Amino acid sequence: MIQLQNFVGGQLLPPRAGRYLPLIEPATGQPFAQVPDSDAADVDAAVRAAEAALPAWRARPAEERGRLLVRLAELIEQHLDRLAQAESQDNGKPLSLARTLDIPRAASNFAFFGTAAPHFATEAHVQEGVALNYTVRHPLGVVACISPWNLPLYLFSWKIAPALAVGCCVVAKPSEITPYTAFLLSELVQQAGFPAGVLNIVHGTGPGVGQALVEHPGIRAISFTGGTKTGELIARTAAPRFKKLSLELGGKNPNLIFADCDLAAAVQTSIRSSFANQGQICLCGSRILVERSLYEPFKTEFVAQVQALTVGDPLDEATRQGALVSEAHLQKVLGYIELAHQEGGRLLAGGQRVRVPGRCAEGYFLQPTVFEGLAPDCRVNQEEIFGPVVTLTPFDTEDEALRWANGTEYGLSATIWTRDLTRAHRLGQQLRAGVVWVNTWLHRDLRTPFGGMKNSGVGREGGLEALRFFTEAQNVCIKL
Ligand code: NAD
Repeated sequence: MIQLQNFVGGQLLPPRAGRYLPLIEPATGQPFAQVPDSDAADVDAAVRAAEAALPAWRARPAEERGRLLVRLAELIEQHLDRLAQAESQDNGKPLSLARTLDIPRAASNFAFFGTAAPHFATEAHVQEGVALNYTVRHPLGVVACISPWNLPLYLFSWKIAPALAVGCCVVAKPSEITPYTAFLLSELVQQAGFPAGVLNIVHGTGPGVGQALVEHPGIRAISFTGGTKTGELIARTAAPRFKKLSLELGGKNPNLIFADCDLAAAVQTSIRSSFANQGQICLCGSRILVERSLYEPFKTEFVAQVQALTVGDPLDEATRQGALVSEAHLQKVLGYIELAHQEGGRLLAGGQRVRVPGRCAEGYFLQPTVFEGLAPDCRVNQEEIFGPVVTLTPFDTEDEALRWANGTEYGLSATIWTRDLTRAHRLGQQLRAGVVWVNTWLHRDLRTPFGGMKNSGVGREGGLEALRFFTEAQNVCIKL
């Protein structure tokens, strides 16, 4: 059985207390590896290693730091197949998705911030004849990056790359449910030639490692992606310690489909935005609001395409829906399907666990599921399910659609489908969502600000926002 190790001070090490947790392959329900169940002592060792590496790392020219990040991106590309297999085995996602989305995007994260590092400029403010102010952006120091299980290497790298680019040293914690590619990354970091201690990876649970990281006095900032409840806990621990926080949290994203849209494109992309990664992407649209005159044609086409999605072994090229990440998560999603029935929903597709024959007989598979007839304020339409379950709801006016779209505690992303550009601009700016897509979904430009409004988060990642987050601005004022 594979035994993962922590990565501390440039070395792969077992956890100090010698405890491990089993890693289960979601497609088979069988254990395939062990992950360190580390504790505060491992976190402390990692923070010390990062502190020791910090002075030399921050003093390196940005070009040199950037070159190492680009080298790491190249190594990820060279090991694409191995990383994609590991991601699929660990998470249950189709191998084809890991190969085309997760791993290539992880490589682009390192390449993007590696090449951004030397271009990160700063401002000067001139008070004519009186004073010159210039801003220095110092790296914050040692920072923590904590990531979730749904897009494991992709989200892990999205945080680590900008932190390293600006000269911070990092102690990172991947999800204990999907730590495999983070472990493989530590081997590539060694190979790329990063100095020891610049990036440290400590495996373990949220209460065991995550909490210790957030509490550790040596950690100056926490970049976290995960559930809203966990974000609240982290904020509560970090705030009295005056640590800088970036929180990327849950979502309950609406798709607004207008009658004048390109129906074929709206259906096809809504299938993806509903069920990609088994609906386990924070940006998945789970509330599909359709203008009444288009409701029946949209529904007919949408449901037909949902029923054609192949649920099966993630290794099979024909598979479009892999396994959910764990038995516990599958049970949670099934609980919401039950709730949708209780709340008066009409099941249009799916709704059942799937038993895939052969090696996947014990896997955590679920049919992609569609309900209609649920009130916008019912729990199924308000709470994040984070699985392959969506609702269809007709609307009559733009105001109604906007009210329902904005009517949850979340505000991560939204999609608008219309050929009316004026409406797209008007609505786009009224939606309380950090990311609004018009006639597309999951289209990413890494230079743009990324993050949520309301309970979907605090702060923004991406481009300059991320580089700024990991620095502390200092004003130097010179009298002229
Ligand atoms: P989670 O909050 O359970 O865990 C996320 C990470 O936090 C894990 O590494 C976990 O071990 C750690 N953690 C747990 N308790 C902690 C604590 N007390 N202190 C510090 N760390 C702790 O989330 P999850 O179930 O892994 O991921 C799913 C959630 O992530 C969903 O809500 C989803 O919407 C959200 N998400 C958000 C984004 C975004 O960009 N906004 C992206 C992906 C996922």
